[in-house]
Amino acid sequence: MSRSEDLFAQAQLAIPGGVNSPVRAFNGVGGSPIFIERADGAYMFDADDQRYIDYVGSWGPMILGHNNAAIREATHAAVERGLSFGTPTSSEITMAEKIKALVPSIEKVRMVNSGTEATMTAIRLARGYTGRDKILKFEGCYHGHADALLVKAGSGLLTLGVPNSPGIPEDFAKHTLTVTFNDLDSVRAIFAEHGSDIATIIVEPVAGNMNCIPPAPGFLEGLREICDDYGSVLIFDEVMSGFRVARGGAQEFYQVTPDLTTLGKVIGGGMPVGAFGGKREIMDYIAPVGPVYQAGTLSGNPVAMAAGLAALSQLDDEQLYPQLNAKVERLVTGLQERADAAGIPFTTNRAGSMFGFFFSTDAKVTSYAQATQCNMEHFRKFYHSMLRQGVYLAPSAFEAGFMSAAHTDADIDATLAAADVAFAELKQD
Ligand code: PMP
Repeated sequence: MSRSEDLFAQAQLAIPGGVNSPVRAFNGVGGSPIFIERADGAYMFDADDQRYIDYVGSWGPMILGHNNAAIREATHAAVERGLSFGTPTSSEITMAEKIKALVPSIEKVRMVNSGTEATMTAIRLARGYTGRDKILKFEGCYHGHADALLVKAGSGLLTLGVPNSPGIPEDFAKHTLTVTFNDLDSVRAIFAEHGSDIATIIVEPVAGNMNCIPPAPGFLEGLREICDDYGSVLIFDEVMSGFRVARGGAQEFYQVTPDLTTLGKVIGGGMPVGAFGGKREIMDYIAPVGPVYQAGTLSGNPVAMAAGLAALSQLDDEQLYPQLNAKVERLVTGLQERADAAGIPFTTNRAGSMFGFFFSTDAKVTSYAQATQCNMEHFRKFYHSMLRQGVYLAPSAFEAGFMSAAHTDADIDATLAAADVAFAELKQD
């Protein structure tokens, strides 16, 4: 038994499922999760001292690689000054100004502690601002685990939402309308019926929670237009895509401007941080200026601000994004070539340094329905083969992968060599 397996057995006695967030339990791929002891650059090291090339990056934050020296030093320095004060601090101003500079649609911003808090509050704010109850989300998009957002499509084409989890009253879910990502007609149809009651459309501008699915040409522009026509608030949930798809997020990459943006992951440099921000007029509806309530004991925490600022200040490097994009291109092109050579049905998607791969017979995956129809057996086998060979991919077919500045071409070539073996194993089956 490996030390990770030992730890997992022990963890399950004290922690539900042995994990503090479900996907970590390897339910999507089977087997026992690996327990990580430390990480550096592109690598993580497990409890058995095995090294892995990591394409999860703590689910997105680690765009600069693990154990980044500037983030580590800034965090240490902040720790020396005190862990939390519960008062305003100057680092919060620096952070707000930095975010505004990077994401110009954000005129004012509030810091929170997670992506879930950011989206939950952005929804409340949109409702408070418009005086409307209904919200529109897309099937397969994940926006954290707030009640109103843990909702799936009901049966039928355009129906009211039903809860995705016990513990959410149907009454809470009924205001959440769910339609199809990349399908503007479904959005138009539901607006024709409910438009004047819809407070907001919330969307991952690049979907990263149903694998990686970029927006179809015109999709985000169409959402902008519909929100303008009906007076609804357009929220881009850029918790994952922010500072990742491009320095200014997906909104910079696709040149579509939302009213509100939610951020997380990269913004904290690895510390628990989220944020929501946008148009001044809407943001001024938040307490204490406005009537919509939101608060947080540890929000704007000085250690988290120091880590986040040290991360964001390194994003100004002109080389960073072109290099990240080139590395992703090398990886996904290499994977495709190898899958093709092995005769395994396979396709990839990418947006900036987010990527996804699908064991699909479709030439391109653009919808949630297609993502769910992939060959999961191939995914699981491929996953475990890569893991055995020291490559750590997201342990689910419905998660995006992430490249970091620390990955070298040699790391990518080693990953591709492992993929050669993994595809050959699939071919033998
Ligand atoms: N929105 C998106 C797009 C996300 O990817 C996530 C987390 N994966 C969240 C919100 C929730 O963030 P957190 O896990 O920090 O609550």
